[in-house]
Amino acid sequence: MQSFYVEGKISFLDDEEQTFYELMCPKCKNIVRTKIIKGIDCGNCQKHTMLTPRCHFQVQMTDGSGSTTATLLGELGENFFSMRAEQIYDIINIKKDPLPLQCTQQDLANKVFKIQLRNSYCRNSDDALAKLFVSSCVKKHDALQLPTSLVSLDVGESSK
Ligand SMILES: [Zn+2]
Repeated sequence: MQSFYVEGKISFLDDEEQTFYELMCPKCKNIVRTKIIKGIDCGNCQKHTMLTPRCHFQVQMTDGSGSTTATLLGELGENFFSMRAEQIYDIINIKKDPLPLQCTQQDLANKVFKIQLRNSYCRNSDDALAKLFVSSCVKKHDALQLPTSLVSLDVGESSK
């Protein structure tokens, strides 16, 4: 597993299929491929349990050399929306509303981030491709060189 930094912009993928959450067994963190929270007998740890949502989505990162896709997981993703995974699930699956992406997308457009990425090979994936995961993400400066405000976005605070 490799870790490295890039500096660039982040934007959400324009992907209708993106659900922004996944469901997992809270005991063993095994991902279960379903969209609805329900009780399961986990095939991995054999426990009977209730599925738990986890924030999971992909973003596009753009820097001087081009753009690439990376995955945001868990708390890091939740911080992007200032929402818990449970709320994201609620909006998408119960209320059937789109996530309020618009303002976040606009927020992101003017910012440059220092992004720590982790290269990880997915065992379960069909296409054995390396996947990039964002392990931390710190706002570096506004792309427009506006005076930086220290109160914006405390994402990645724990990575110091
Ligand atoms: Zn399990």
